[in-house]
Amino acid sequence: MAPRTHDSARGDSAVRRREYAHFEHKLRQRWDALRQEMRETLLRAQNEGYADIAGRVSDLEDQSLADLLVDVNLAEVTRDVGEIRDIERALRRMALGTYGTCVSCGQPIERERLEVYPTANRCASCQRAYEHDHVTTPTPRL
Ligand SMILES: [Zn+2]
Repeated sequence: MAPRTHDSARGDSAVRRREYAHFEHKLRQRWDALRQEMRETLLRAQNEGYADIAGRVSDLEDQSLADLLVDVNLAEVTRDVGEIRDIERALRRMALGTYGTCVSCGQPIERERLEVYPTANRCASCQRAYEHDHVTTPTPRL
């Protein structure tokens, strides 16, 4: 058991540092699943002219793998890479101790929200406002 410390000034409902491990586990599990998905995508890509790249995948560090996939720019992996980046950012916020705090309003992100979206960096209401302001894709009408 780690001794109780007073270095956290966050509110009672905030995700505390001692709870980070729970979310870190979720993030790393998701990371592993995504990485596996991307490797499989690259193996398929091998048949489409990416043999050289696919052959190098097993030697790469995770970070380089993500960068490589951005370079390859396969439409299929672009979404996965985006999610990997989100996971990396979430892990970085954990290292900084700001994980679980909304980047927009500074309030704690709802715990239930983090359970469903461990990469969330905004509370639910700020996220709604953000999406309202930033969604530029026109809604298809039929
Ligand atoms: Zn907020």
